[in-house]
Amino acid sequence: MATQEETFKKIVAHCKEYGFVFPSSEIYDGLGAVYDYGQNGVELKNNIKHYWWDSMTLLHENIVGIDAAIFMHPTTWKASGHVDAFNDPLIDNRDSKKRYRADVLIEDQLGKIEEKINKEIEKARKRFGEQFDEAQFRATNGRVLEHQAHFDQLHTRYSEAMNKMDLAELKQIILDEEIVCPISGTRNWTDVRQFNLMFSTEMGSTADGAMKIYLRPETAQGIFVNYLNVQKTGRMKLPFGIAQIGKAFRNEIVARQFIFRMREFEQMEMQFFIKPGTEHEWFNHWREFRLKWHKALGLGDEKYRFHDHEKLAHYANAATDIEFQMPFGFKEVEGIHSRTNFDLSQHAKFSGKKIEYFDPETNTSYTPYVIETSIGVDRMFLSIMCSAYKEEQLEGGDSRVVLALPPVLAPVKACVMPLVKKDGLPEKAREIQNMLKFDFKTNYDEKDSIGKRYRRQDAIGTPFCITVDHDTLTDGCVTVRYRDTMTQDRVKIEDLHELIYKACDMKQLYRKIVAQ
Ligand code: ATP
Repeated sequence: MATQEETFKKIVAHCKEYGFVFPSSEIYDGLGAVYDYGQNGVELKNNIKHYWWDSMTLLHENIVGIDAAIFMHPTTWKASGHVDAFNDPLIDNRDSKKRYRADVLIEDQLGKIEEKINKEIEKARKRFGEQFDEAQFRATNGRVLEHQAHFDQLHTRYSEAMNKMDLAELKQIILDEEIVCPISGTRNWTDVRQFNLMFSTEMGSTADGAMKIYLRPETAQGIFVNYLNVQKTGRMKLPFGIAQIGKAFRNEIVARQFIFRMREFEQMEMQFFIKPGTEHEWFNHWREFRLKWHKALGLGDEKYRFHDHEKLAHYANAATDIEFQMPFGFKEVEGIHSRTNFDLSQHAKFSGKKIEYFDPETNTSYTPYVIETSIGVDRMFLSIMCSAYKEEQLEGGDSRVVLALPPVLAPVKACVMPLVKKDGLPEKAREIQNMLKFDFKTNYDEKDSIGKRYRRQDAIGTPFCITVDHDTLTDGCVTVRYRDTMTQDRVKIEDLHELIYKACDMKQLYRKIVAQ
């Protein structure tokens, strides 16, 4: 059995080999934590975006979309708090010269303690079998109690330090916990410093006329500064939402784990404007709705969990993450935040404009509260890739790599293949492809044995392979081979459209979400 780390390496290699994700500017040895999507990657990514966009704007008549510019007036970032507070605490190890996020080092330490507790529990579960009572074991076992006390004490100390951004205390925790650098193995740490994650550049041509501007670190502010435009021109009534998909940029200190943490990435964000006082109800609503959206894809319900935030961002009064089980542990894919009226009030203050909502029901004006749902396209892409990648042993000693992608997201829905490259079979295959191509992304492949062609399609997750043989010319039927089961059916050419449509139509997911 391959370890999780080996599996992850294979997934990264597979992404490159099959045209999903390439390192950026690879011929120049790449650029740290920047990636390009290849011919199959871009299709998968577009399908993810399509799934998200329509689930927002089609399923909710009170949610509309916008597409704001990446460059924004620099005061935006003063108002939003990003200039002053969008910092990570960083620490260097003097021996390895490696840089780390101090908070991540401590969170990893908490994770290790949790692991120890889980190990004790698993051991006991095996020993006691069916009679095992986990709650009782947790409450009475000496070793578990000891680890739990350590965890609680560290957790409280860490949360307090983060909430106060007490950098000296963060360093002291690292020293007290005897956390070592994973590379050098030493505890030779520098002090903890603040590091602002925003990229900046200059706009304008003359030196004195140039203005320092930022590449947006989140798409949300493009929505907030357009709140009045959309509300007024769209005659929107509360509650209503504005959705947006776009690039965001963060100068991440430690960029690791492939496309999980990038310096240029894409977000899908929706800000839902509500009446103050209803935030609790709407926060819960969106928390549930977003989990349904994830689960409808069928990647496995057990792969998701909520993680409520300990340290709330400067703008939030409640926050939770939806985490997905990656090969390197449960990790945040999406954040759901109750942002209060922080952003709109700040923009009102800094711009001098009145940014309020006139409520015709109560005849009063107020600044709306906001619930945000924010998901990274690239992290979603990675979670799908990780759950889809499978190495299977087949009968007869053969093996295959298959991407069991949800068919609705698969980059290519069907590949049409003539059994041989003669006797009019290629022409017939082209005819079938032409029939399907207006509705589905299809491939055509006539090279190598059918077995090899199947493997190539398995590797990119194509749900259907359609083979044209000599009988096709007389009986009007083709052989359809299914990716997951590898079984085959004889299907009439005129039934192909319906067959593919049934499996790849996104509407079935929307129905699932609404019905759940
Ligand atoms: P993290 O704690 O992992 O740095 P975050 O809490 O700062 O993430 P948010 O600001 O809530 O992230 O951003 C919303 C979403 O944007 C995240 O859930 C994630 O999917 C995505 N995202 C954030 N930073 C990155 C990044 N550097 N690379 C890829 N996706 C990212």
